[in-house]
Amino acid sequence: MFAPNKNIQDKRIVIASNRLPVSVTSKNGNLQITPSVGGLTTALSSFHSKKASLWVGWPGINPTSSQHKKELEETLQNNFNCLPVYLSDSDLRKYYYGFSNRTLWPLFHYFSSYCTFDASEWETYQKVNQLFCRKLVETLHPDDMVWIHDYHLLLLPEMLREIMPDATIGFFLHIPFPSMEIFRYLPWREEILQGMLGADLIGFHTYDYTRHFFSSALRLLGKEQTYGKINAGSRMVTVETFPMGIDAEKFTRAVTSPAVKKEKIRIQESVNTEKIILSVDRLDFTKGIPEHLKAFERFLEKYPEWQERITYVLLCVPSRTKVQEYQQLKSDIDELVGKINGRFNVPGWLPVLYMYRSLPFEELSAFYSTADLALVTPLRDGMNLVAKEYLACQDQVGKGVLVLSETAGAAAELSEAVIVNPRNIEMMAEAIAFGLSVPDDEKRERIGLMAQRIKKYNIFRWTDDFIHHLGRNMEDRIQNQQRFLMGKYQNEIHECYKLAGKRLLLLDFDGTLVTLKKRPEQVRPDSELIKILGKLKADPKNTIVIISGRDRNYLADWLGDTGVEMVAEHGAWIYKSTHGDWYLSEPGTTNQWKESLYPVLEQFSERTPGSFIEEKTYALAWHYRNTDPEIGDIRANELVDTLRTLLSGTHLQVLLGNKVVEIKPSGVDKGKASLKWLESSEPWDFILAVGDDWTDEDIFAVLPEKAWSIKVGFIPFTKADYFLKSSNDVRSLLKSLPST
Ligand code: UDP
Repeated sequence: MFAPNKNIQDKRIVIASNRLPVSVTSKNGNLQITPSVGGLTTALSSFHSKKASLWVGWPGINPTSSQHKKELEETLQNNFNCLPVYLSDSDLRKYYYGFSNRTLWPLFHYFSSYCTFDASEWETYQKVNQLFCRKLVETLHPDDMVWIHDYHLLLLPEMLREIMPDATIGFFLHIPFPSMEIFRYLPWREEILQGMLGADLIGFHTYDYTRHFFSSALRLLGKEQTYGKINAGSRMVTVETFPMGIDAEKFTRAVTSPAVKKEKIRIQESVNTEKIILSVDRLDFTKGIPEHLKAFERFLEKYPEWQERITYVLLCVPSRTKVQEYQQLKSDIDELVGKINGRFNVPGWLPVLYMYRSLPFEELSAFYSTADLALVTPLRDGMNLVAKEYLACQDQVGKGVLVLSETAGAAAELSEAVIVNPRNIEMMAEAIAFGLSVPDDEKRERIGLMAQRIKKYNIFRWTDDFIHHLGRNMEDRIQNQQRFLMGKYQNEIHECYKLAGKRLLLLDFDGTLVTLKKRPEQVRPDSELIKILGKLKADPKNTIVIISGRDRNYLADWLGDTGVEMVAEHGAWIYKSTHGDWYLSEPGTTNQWKESLYPVLEQFSERTPGSFIEEKTYALAWHYRNTDPEIGDIRANELVDTLRTLLSGTHLQVLLGNKVVEIKPSGVDKGKASLKWLESSEPWDFILAVGDDWTDEDIFAVLPEKAWSIKVGFIPFTKADYFLKSSNDVRSLLKSLPST
């Protein structure tokens, strides 16, 4: 549980989604405004009406005159807190019907064969995201929090971030995020991922979607996650799971309202069978409506005793009616309904009661509370709110059964439902039969447990939770930004440097002074670096120490001429100018152990393509930078576990560095090596330590308080006080240090 943050609670939330929560039409020149239908708008409307938020989106109409436009905008602003983004017919065709609904929607729902990949639709998709961006930029105040919704606006977070780098941006995806193997089909996959990473917080309905996103970010952008955060240069993007809830109380309360009671009587009179099965779906290929019908048909076939005693109420809400595939689906459903009714009906019994329209809230709630069994079996669904609404309406009634598809996001939370594979018709027919046979006590218990859960994590908790996480991320971002060594800190460091009579610079090599390459031997210090080090060394007040994991021959060959002092093999070897030669930091260190441990590393190398062993005098390193990133991490952890068991009680230790597992004598690390300089008899006036790797944390840990410690790359989990973005920035800093 989190403590509510007052500052965050007071902020204005600006919602951006493709559609506004209301749809505008014009009849005889008069504006008609009706609530939009769909999971996103139903759920967020409750939040929007309670909180003074602003909602930006497409109103469903393009005003024909300036008078019309003014009237529309005033009504939307004053009555609904909404701000319209107008889309031309061609934009709608390509961005909405095209890229959003014929590329992203089927792909993200695993219907890749339904996808079209059209470059001009992609262009319009970018253009419309820009239109939303412009509208937001016009209206945002610096203190606002922006909450962007769904697959229509995947590029918007990054577009907004470019113009407003300090904006607080949240993004929630209401549909599944598919497995990387599916997502990678998209020709513009990198752009989409980058677009999303413009947000501070990215939310998904289930942990599976979050996991898939991490996997795509890793494999397609090479971006790793650490504790659920992805490094986006100078910010961390939090990626979290927030299973969307509903306004459960509203549905539970409605059941006992006079209007709903009246509707229930009307339903019971018109559907006069013993039991009612209910499905409520937008007419969409992802919802598996033909499969529901086939399962019902099979159920009647297998269990003829239920004929004439049960009615299947099939409510289909019209959706994307202009799209040809949806028109085809509609006629397939019409045909199936006709076939089942024709096959089974007898005078006085209609097996399938088919409604193709949208129902008002009271009527829908009446159906939910009347139905003995809800068949919620989409082929794929981000969450599915219908399942939750049914449970909320059954909470007091307690007689219903929920048959739920395993591929609906809601299944992750509703394990007491009868869970089915929505493509397995036989299984669904059995689930209907089973559902109808569950004893009343068990039904009440199952419904009770699920209803309790959805009441607790309702839409308000969901929105609060998201906004709270967004606020926390914003606070972290502000704090972390203050740790970047820029502006006033650069001036301060120059000042301290200038005033100091005796200075110590402890510098890591790979990733700090030079950029990392695929294989360590490909990295050579370039002339610029040699010049920088030479110039620093020329100042008699300076002692420069390169502290590296490399072996001493490499360091001596490439850096020896600069006159710097050196630490090799993570602290095993020391080179001090006063000593004149390399010496072992821990005298008596042995390396006979390498012979017995080499085969262990060899075994891992053989099993992990792309990995290789580096042999140093007193260390063995297993590098896995070039392996498949996921398998590399798994094998590295396995290797660390194996080695820790093998090495317990020995004088050796295992070290997990930046894509390397290293075995070396214990008592040797970069921190201990640094102490050879830090514990000098004459105190240092200025100490600077710079490193990028976990092994450099040992240096940061032994520094005195007044030292300047800098982590290269933005990883907030560090003992260093400051950040620099890259080794180029380190070079710039070193070059900028004033000559004295
Ligand atoms: N809905 C509605 N009127 C209807 C049928 C459904 O307002 O006649 C609402 C329903 O209450 C639910 C939403 O439409 O909140 C459907 O959400 P869901 O997540 O199940 O599916 P989506 O349409 O978002 O894919």
